[in-house]
Amino acid sequence: MDNVNQLLEKAKELIDAIGKKTDETIRISKLRATKATLKAELRGTYSKLGGAYYEAKRYDIDKNAEIDQFVAVIDEIIGKIHVLDRSISELSTKTVCKVCGTVNPKSAHYCQHCGALIEAEPYKPQEEPSEEILTEIVDEVKAEVKEIVDVPIEPELKDEE
Ligand SMILES: [Zn+2]
Repeated sequence: MDNVNQLLEKAKELIDAIGKKTDETIRISKLRATKATLKAELRGTYSKLGGAYYEAKRYDIDKNAEIDQFVAVIDEIIGKIHVLDRSISELSTKTVCKVCGTVNPKSAHYCQHCGALIEAEPYKPQEEPSEEILTEIVDEVKAEVKEIVDVPIEPELKDEE
């Protein structure tokens, strides 16, 4: 009976550890999804900046206020991308203890929380996030960048016309 209880206890610990590891995976996925959205955002803003600059030159209109605004938006997006990059690399270069789920530095040989031996393989997210999580991510990202995305991106210059 004791053995059975020990096994059940062990199973419970493992399930907890998997839960914590999945949290890390989801966090990295979310960060990556947010970064992809911000990069699309950045391209769109560069395009709008180019459009405003073109009109200013082409029709000799004062577009400085608009251009300044786009420059500020670009700086803000680049700043956010840098923050995301730091977080992603921080999360990706850590190892997760398979026993207790604690996130340890990559160089750790033993878990800082439970003392278990940490295997050499670095932590990498593998499982694809579920559709539900993806929807959640997309909604979160949409909400985050709504104010900027609301302005439609200027259409690319077309050959016809
Ligand atoms: Zn541990």
